[in-house]
Amino acid sequence: MSIVTVTILWLRRDLRLADNPALAAALSEGDPVVPAFCLDRRLLTGRHASAARTRFLLDCLRDLDRSLRDRGSGLVMREGLPERELAQLARELGARSVHASGDVGPFARRRDERVRGAVGDAGAELVLHPGLFAVDDPASILTGAGRPYTVFTPYYRSWLRAPRREVIPAPDRLPALPSRVRRRKGRIPALERIGLACAPLAGKSAVRGGERAARARVEAFLSDGLREYGARRDLLDAGPTSRLSPYLHLGCISPRELEARLGHDAAAEELRRQLCWRDFYAQVLRAFPANVRSEYQRRYRGTIRWSRARRRFDAWCEGRTGYPLVDASMRQLQREGWIHNRCRLVVGSFLTKDLGIDWRWGERWFMQMLIDGDEANNNGNWQWIASVGVDPQSPGRRIYNPALQQARLDPDGAFVRRHVPELAGVPADFLAEPWTMPRAVQDAARCIIGRDYPAPIVDHATARREAIARYAAAR
Ligand code: FAD
Repeated sequence: MSIVTVTILWLRRDLRLADNPALAAALSEGDPVVPAFCLDRRLLTGRHASAARTRFLLDCLRDLDRSLRDRGSGLVMREGLPERELAQLARELGARSVHASGDVGPFARRRDERVRGAVGDAGAELVLHPGLFAVDDPASILTGAGRPYTVFTPYYRSWLRAPRREVIPAPDRLPALPSRVRRRKGRIPALERIGLACAPLAGKSAVRGGERAARARVEAFLSDGLREYGARRDLLDAGPTSRLSPYLHLGCISPRELEARLGHDAAAEELRRQLCWRDFYAQVLRAFPANVRSEYQRRYRGTIRWSRARRRFDAWCEGRTGYPLVDASMRQLQREGWIHNRCRLVVGSFLTKDLGIDWRWGERWFMQMLIDGDEANNNGNWQWIASVGVDPQSPGRRIYNPALQQARLDPDGAFVRRHVPELAGVPADFLAEPWTMPRAVQDAARCIIGRDYPAPIVDHATARREAIARYAAAR
């Protein structure tokens, strides 16, 4: 009797069939392939637990299961520690290999080593593949001295020259699941069963997760949004950014494929540059895993006197700071699980510089709220805006004046008025600094400062001076 061996495809944040090198490698072994996803509660309910992102993940898994079933296969669900679940699956099936896409964060890499050991004991080998980034291995791009890059622009130049692999088409058919797995395929749970709950998201982010939705968004963006991307991408209300970040985070679309489909005009190069930021922060986290807890810049580790003002932090989270652009952004974050990059920068600067609150508090709040919450991108960007990370500049250069930013990013006030309805009647001249409205104008606008809308919780000019002094004292 011939023994049929099986190959396991362990899916994590590469939830797609197109351009998935791990899937292609699993198929090339010629054995039945068992695509498996393991719900790991440490990730779903740990310190970065996010109901919104988990709901998006469950959507992605349903879509993937459908695509797999359409091609004759299906998604096998397991719940528990991957080292236990995958080893058990490998043992049950007599699998010889487990293919997965290699990740960069310290948690993922420790987990993979544990899985490697456990599936090894079960007689299978864990094989990691590229697939999560535009280049195969962002961390393999090194300076002339053989060190990781810590400044973006030189990394970008080298990244542009780095080799790219061919994009892999999605398979038309897949081998059927062995019958013993089909019988115990497992279910994709409802959000509530994981112990999470959140109101449905509003706005454009209310779209569903999954490869189908991602591809639809890519098509719409490439045919429509990209043209305007270079010139108008900083406009908050009608700005044509791709909104692909949640799909890129969970791998519903391959960054390699997206990059391959861009042309070479100015707008396409601008988007390519943003994709490079993603790879840049991945290699930063790969090279400096301690960044998840502490400042990359040694001189700021434990030396900045961060404020622990809980009420001010709550005002920031809830969009009650009295600065309309900050408040509109933070309210959009809660309602939609996504905000524009410029808003992230403005609110990040406000939290760390104007309020002097620890960047880790903001980082964690973002991870809980964002559907695109991504350890490498979030940590890298928070450290950047707090002026404690890689790609350094003097702290004063990364302090954003919320009122000036509002005039530039939301010139007609549509974004602020949409998210902060109390300000709907405020005349345009006062919208960025509503506290300067004379009392008669407040009456006419039906917006009394301190009653209908908060007075500013700090004075920006004073807070700016204090922030610069705080950083200077820390050196
Ligand atoms: P587009 O402008 O269309 O860009 C296309 C893609 O490029 C994005 O989807 C994203 O994958 C990548 N990209 C763009 N800008 C950046 C950047 N600065 N850093 C890294 N990648 C980038 N992005 C996340 O994906 N997850 C996060 O958790 C996250 N946290 C952030 C926290 C702060 C404080 C800041 C300032 C930025 C953060 N970003 C994060 C980066 C960026 O704001 C988002 O990727 C972007 O706003 C997503 O919108 P988009 O897809 O329309 O972007």
